[in-house]
Amino acid sequence: METRVCLITPESLAWAKEIIEKGGVVAMPTETVYGLGSSAFNDAAVRKIFEVKGRPNNNPLIAHVHETYDLSQIIDYDPPYAQKLRAAFLPGPLTLVYPSKGKVSPFVSCGLDTLAIRVPAHAGARAFLKKVGVPIVAPSANISRHVSPTSAQHVLDDFDGKIPLILDGGECTGGIESTVCDCTGEYPVILRPGLITREMIEKVVGRCDEYAPDLENPQQVKSPGMLYKHYAPRCKTLLFSQKNVEQAILRYVKESQENKGVAVLCEEKWISEFEKIGAKCLNLGKNQAEMASRLYKLLREAERFCDTLIVVEPQESDGIMTGVLNRLRKACTSQDV
Ligand code: AMP
Ligand code: MG
Repeated sequence: METRVCLITPESLAWAKEIIEKGGVVAMPTETVYGLGSSAFNDAAVRKIFEVKGRPNNNPLIAHVHETYDLSQIIDYDPPYAQKLRAAFLPGPLTLVYPSKGKVSPFVSCGLDTLAIRVPAHAGARAFLKKVGVPIVAPSANISRHVSPTSAQHVLDDFDGKIPLILDGGECTGGIESTVCDCTGEYPVILRPGLITREMIEKVVGRCDEYAPDLENPQQVKSPGMLYKHYAPRCKTLLFSQKNVEQAILRYVKESQENKGVAVLCEEKWISEFEKIGAKCLNLGKNQAEMASRLYKLLREAERFCDTLIVVEPQESDGIMTGVLNRLRKACTSQDV
């Protein structure tokens, strides 16, 4: 199959709609990362997403809709605090999990009686969702466990020849996946941290908890995606905390004696330390938003030439850095975890 990368135009949108209606898969941009989309109402199309990504079949998908879509068609209950969250943050990088009406394919939520819904803000995603008019399940458009894609080229790198169309909406600005927030209880609970932070949600609805999965009891994990190693570049990664920069420098020296492809990924303030020893540096940036938006791009860049990537964890851990550190630590666990 030939994979075409097309800018978002009336023609490419009409073709995208045709593919979706025939049960096919289309990659689309969002403000967080690129997604691999198919109709949430079509069993075979939903299964195709799992197949083409190599996604474990117990990791549920998020349904994406345009802001004008009538949610009561697919959700069973809409708590008042969810209405407040939608008014405050949507369209935007926040996914809300509701009790499902069971109208979408059972493969979407992998047997759970809930449904995760997101309303993206990206103009290209909105045009596509409006055009197709049905909920589109769209996990990140990467081979499962690989680094999420933030450009059409990243999607092509993983799926060339496997899907017919990639809608090219430029580089994603947000950089990490949406915050996933459970709205089936008395108050919202964050299942996956992201660009909409706990503090931001608390300001709107008063209380918001953060879910800590019990890894000893995987059956009881609310959001199965939390269990998996994710976001990993195809090279060895070694993660050092801020306190251990000296060790990171020593390790860089040792690794570069053994391998040709060694680089350091760190926030801007450490770059000069590493440059003193002639290290190849990938600059994560100097503030939280920059670090979120560059993370995946730099991990993908690193794997192109690195045997070993030395990573120094950013210092801040509040706000959106909760989400950035969550992704970075998952990317840097040893390859066989
Ligand atoms: P991805 O599509 O790769 O961004 O991953 C989607 C995330 O949303 C995963 O962490 C899933 O576990 C989570 N998710 C999707 N649907 C549900 C649901 N119904 N309940 C809880 N978590 C969900
Ligand atoms: Mg993903």
